[in-house]
Order: sequence, then structure tokens, then C-alpha cells
Amino acid sequence: MTNQELWQAVLAQIQLNISQANFATWFKNTEISHQKEGRILVLVPNSFVKEWLQNKYNKNIFKILHDLDCNIREVEYQIGKAKIEPKKEEMIMPETDQLEFQEFKVNKDTNLNPRYTFDTFVVGPFNELPHAAAVAVSKKPGIVYNPLFIYGGVGLGKTHLIQSIGNEIDSAFKKNKVRYISSEKFTSEVVSSIKNQTIEQFKAKYRDIDTLIIDDVQFLAGREKTQEEFFHVFNILYEKNKQIILSSDRPPRAINSLTERLRSRFEGGMIADVSAPDLETRMAILKTKAQEKGVEFGEEIYQYIASVIKNNIRELEGALNRLVIYENLNHKKPDMEATQTLFKNILSSQNRVVTPRKIIQVVADFYDLKEREILNASRKKEIVRPRQIAMFLLRQELKSSFPSIGRKFDGKDHTTAIHSYKKILREVETDKKLEEEIVLIKEQILAS
Ligand code: ADP
Ligand code: MG
Repeated sequence: MTNQELWQAVLAQIQLNISQANFATWFKNTEISHQKEGRILVLVPNSFVKEWLQNKYNKNIFKILHDLDCNIREVEYQIGKAKIEPKKEEMIMPETDQLEFQEFKVNKDTNLNPRYTFDTFVVGPFNELPHAAAVAVSKKPGIVYNPLFIYGGVGLGKTHLIQSIGNEIDSAFKKNKVRYISSEKFTSEVVSSIKNQTIEQFKAKYRDIDTLIIDDVQFLAGREKTQEEFFHVFNILYEKNKQIILSSDRPPRAINSLTERLRSRFEGGMIADVSAPDLETRMAILKTKAQEKGVEFGEEIYQYIASVIKNNIRELEGALNRLVIYENLNHKKPDMEATQTLFKNILSSQNRVVTPRKIIQVVADFYDLKEREILNASRKKEIVRPRQIAMFLLRQELKSSFPSIGRKFDGKDHTTAIHSYKKILREVETDKKLEEEIVLIKEQILAS
């Protein structure tokens, strides 16, 4: 195996166990630069990543490498520029949730990935309705359902579906100007056009679009200026009967701090949700993907994988990749036993439950404190804040009652818990760093 193949194998496995956001944060622009006598040198883009990989991921990375090649005894991280950097304009960058190992050319005009089409989209009871709505919209853009709002959990095909509409319209209606954009990208366009005083150009660009597709609109939460600009764009297009397609991980009413007028706009058309696929559809998806990749693993193996991976189609694909890597490494197809070994980590991680104890442990760990320190009554600033965050998460993640949260922390009363919860809730809105920390803490809670 070349260094590149080796690192790809590591990344493929890591990707299965952490969120896309975390993956993009810590593993983008990394590579193995060389290996010698069992020592592997990994290039990382900066000291932040270096430290993080060393402290948080090294055990996993090492274990995967060692499983792949038992001669590997040590992994080191060094700051340096990865040579195989993807060319930006030609590929989908792993910005949001589109991290792929294969490279796909994105259409420069529409920003759509040609891979996402209705042909390759498997339909089952879990996505029948959004699929039907999507097909209808692609046949009569601007006429049937406007806006079309698709929501559902991570990895269930929202991006695939809304991009399929775009690709279909783009090829069937040559004059229809289609544009796909993620909400983060949209937000950064708003921010930079305000900064550069080019808001008029920004508006002109969007006024011109016939089919506007905006992905993951839950990220507009709390961004008032962006919402305001989006509201204008929305109205202009809507009044001209232009098609607007939106996706989100939750329904409009559940998006916090979305202005009321935008919420009612979102609710004004068709709302359809994608749920998790049933076993039969999971099998169908595995077989379809295998066929696309030109591989084949047999009914029994698919049965097994479809029975352990239930809630995420991206993970189903990841599982298939894992089988492919196994086959390449071992020059034979995995049998049932090998498959079970390959997926035993997934099984155990799916059974994880979040408990108050776990939340407190992870928060303590994250801020390098002892559990006792967080639970005690100390008023030291470096402890007060993590304690508030722990209380916040107990409320948010477990819906614990305020009195019960208070009691856990040295018998504080419920007002302290309420105060902490509200304080963090408020600060997260404006404090980017705090927001990031909380995202990372949540990841750790789920991963531990
Ligand atoms: P989401 O946007 O909901 O997080 P994606 O659209 O990115 O999910 O889907 C994750 C992966 O699973 C993609 O590679 C996509 O092609 C694939 N996928 C999702 N749903 C389906 C489906 N119904 N049929 C085939 N592939 C699917
Ligand atoms: Mg998506």
C-alpha cells in the first residue's frame, strides 16, 4: 500500500466514527508524508490540529494503522503542507457535509454535483413523499410547490434529493437558471458583501435566478442580517414565481431564532420529511451502491450491515467502503466473521446512551478539570463557566428538570440551574468560540 492509500484507509474508518464537521475540522489537508521502520509521519496544517490529533485521535489512528500493518509502531505529527491538495474550483470542498473521497466536478454555473440525480436515488416508504414532491417540482418549477421544504436527520438524502431537482431542471429547462448554495456559503456571501459594500451586486445576482436551492437552512438560526437579506431574495423570487427549494435538519417551527416572517414563508409551501429507511430499503440502497461501485459482497453480508446500520445512509455507504478496503487489502472478500469484526465498533457506539454522568465527565475532561471540581461549589472563574456549560447541556440534551440539575451540583437550587442555562443559551448566540466548544463537547459526549 502506498502512503496515500494507507492514509485513505485510516480516514475512511475515522469518518465512520466522528461527525462530518469534526472530520472536516481535524482531518482536512492531512497526509502521510513518509514512513520508515515502523514510524509514520503525518503532515498536518497547523499546531492546533497537531495538538488535537495527538491528544484526542492518536490512539484511534494508531490502532487503525496497526491493524492495517502490524509493523507500524509509532505515529508522529508534523506541521507542513500536504502535497495532494484538491483543486478548489473543480471539486466539492468538504465544507459542510459533502465530504467525499472521490472527486467530483461541480458544475460551475449551478454549483450542483452531477452525481446527485433521481436515477441514483433509492425510494422507499421513508422518503416517498419528499421524493414525489421533488419530482413534481422538477417537472414544473415554480408552479406546484413553492417553496419546497425538505427536512430530516443527517445523512438521509436531503442534499442528494434537492440537488437532483436542480440537475433535472438544469437539463430539462435550458433557460432556467439554477443555483445551489449551502446556508453557510450564503451567510458568508452576505457578510462579505456588507463588508465590501457590494450588497447591490449580491442582490442582483440572486434576483436573476430561476431555481434557488438552499441547503441546511437551520444554520440561518440567529443570523439576523442574513435572514433579512434572504427574506428579500425570497420575496423577489417568490413573486416572480421562481422556484425555491430548502432543506433543513428540522421543521421550520423547530428552528430557533428564525424570524417569524421567514418562518411563515418557509411554511407557506410544501413541507415534507425524510425519515430513516426501513430494513428492506437499506438493503436496496446497499445493493444499488455496490452496483455503482462495481463491487459485490453477497446477500448475507448486506443483511448484516443493513441490520446494524439503521439511521444514516451515508454510514451505509461508509460501511460498503470499509468492505471494499478490506477486500483490497486482503485480496479476498470479507466473510461473515470478518464483517462482524469490522463492524463491532459501530455496534457498540450505536448502543451508547447519554447520561448525566457522561455529560459531566466530558465537560470536565474538555476543560481539563476533575469531575469533583465541576460538581463542587467553587467560585473560581475557570470552573464556574464549565459548570454552567454542564448545566446547560444537562437541560438541553437530557431535558433534566432544573431542580434535579441543581441538586447534582452540591445541592444548588433550581434558580442557579435556570440562570446557568439561560446565560449559556444567550451567549451561544453571539459567542462563536463558545458555540464551537459546545459542538465539540456534544461530539465527545456522543463518541464516548
Ligand atoms: P443529508 O443531506 O440528508 O445529510 P445526503 O444527501 O448528503 O444526506 O446523503 C448522504 C449520502 O447518502 C449521499 O452520498 C447520498 O448520495 C446517499 N443517499 C442518501 N439517500 C439516498 C437514497 N435514497 N438513495 C441513494 N443514496 C442515498
Ligand atoms: Mg446535506
